[in-house]
Formats: sequence, C-alpha cells, structure tokens
Amino acid sequence: MERTLILCKPDCVSRNLVGTVLDRFERAGLSIAATKMLRLTPALLTEHYSHLADRPFFPEIVAFMQSQPVVAVILSGDNAVAKVRELLGPTDSRKAPKGTLRGDFGTGSMENIAHASDSVENAELEVKRFFRADEIPA
Ligand code: ADP
Repeated sequence: MERTLILCKPDCVSRNLVGTVLDRFERAGLSIAATKMLRLTPALLTEHYSHLADRPFFPEIVAFMQSQPVVAVILSGDNAVAKVRELLGPTDSRKAPKGTLRGDFGTGSMENIAHASDSVENAELEVKRFFRADEIPA
C-alpha cells in the first residue's frame, strides 16, 4: 500500500471539477485517506516549488496557486504515486492525451487541474508538508 499527495488547483476548484477529479481516482481503485481545503501561503509555495525557483514562470505559479483555496488530498492504494501521475497526464495540458485529467480539462502548462507527487519519496515529504499528523487517520 502506497500513498500520494494531490492538490486540486485553483482552476479545478473554480470550475467545479474537484468531484470529477476525485471520481477518476476512486474509480481507479484509490482511496481518500485525508482531505481538506486550504489557502496556500507564499512560504509554503516557495518550499513546494523550490525546484522551479529559477524558472521565469515561478512568480506566476506562486501567484496562481494562492489565488484561491485548493483542495489537498492524500490518496492511498497499490502503486498510488505512479497510478495518479498516469491518470493526471503530463504537465502541459495541450500535450496531455485525451482520457487523462489534464488532457480532458487542463488549459495550459500552468493551469493544469492538479498537482500530484512525482515519487514515493516526495509523496512522503508532501504529505507532511500539507497535513499535520493529527489530520491523518492512523
Ligand atoms: P508537474 O506539476 O507536472 O509535476 P512541475 O513540477 O515541472 O510539473 O511544475 C510544477 C507546476 O508549475 C506545473 O504543474 C505547472 O502548474 C507549472 N509549470 C510547469 N512548467 C510550466 C511552464 N513552462 N509554464 C508555466 N507553468 C509551468
């Protein structure tokens, strides 16, 4: 059993697509282990997107992600990290195949519906970044 962290981004929340996104993951056999809505702070986003700090779009992604609250979800299941990334599709929505969440609903490279952890190691870091221990059922 593996767990992974997803964030339903502001475009997903504002377009009422949170249910659709979670439905796809649940239909793929993944379970919601914890969820909450929260407004991301610049400090949290700077840490979360530190691997992009030198990219020209960094200020834009930080502004976009704090433009309205996001829905954070811990999903658990067999092979959860890879399964969720596959269902989500590649970063650029315009290159994402139909049938993936980004291919079906994303509009660009930035507004691409959801974040998902890209490795088991990062998933564990991100679960702890967005959830306190007492928010995660044992
Ligand atoms: P992913 O979210 O697919 O793991 P990255 O970690 O590379 O991708 O990027 C984090 C987020 O930064 C992306 O999901 C997207 O919102 C934004 N982003 C990435 N590349 C670009 C780009 N070239 N232009 C604008 N925004 C981008």
